Amino acid sequence: MSVLRKALSDFRWEGVDMRAYKDEASAPFRSVTRQVLASAPDLRGELRYFEVAPGGWTTLERHAHVHAVTILRGSGRALVGHEVLEIGPLDLVTVPAWAWHQFRATAQAPLGFLCMVDAERDRPQLPTTDERAQLQAIPEVALFLGNTP
Ligand code: MN
Repeated sequence: MSVLRKALSDFRWEGVDMRAYKDEASAPFRSVTRQVLASAPDLRGELRYFEVAPGGWTTLERHAHVHAVTILRGSGRALVGHEVLEIGPLDLVTVPAWAWHQFRATAQAPLGFLCMVDAERDRPQLPTTDERAQLQAIPEVALFLGNTP
């Protein structure tokens, strides 16, 4: 593989496959794709590009590993912990360990972001019914989540 993979149009890169967001079908999400931009045996992290189609959303999840996210295109909102954040191009979002998180695109445009993560990492947890109810008890979070899973 060349050390340079040129950017193509529309947030694609040479030699980078467009993949499904998650392999497992068990986690709920809507209209998200994944491209792994950097991953190597001697690299302890991975750099991925996710794109959420208009009206789409990533899985509501938490885990021990952390994320460093850079928004590249579009805008939307993110839930991190108990906080709902307005996000747009070049904003940086840190997702701490065990913070619930979800990214949602606006209805008008795709939301694309880079996400840096440990190469070796624990599996995400989904909220239990009780944990979801606790999140829904916060009005701003309830509004953010709506009635999607
Ligand atoms: Mn995550």
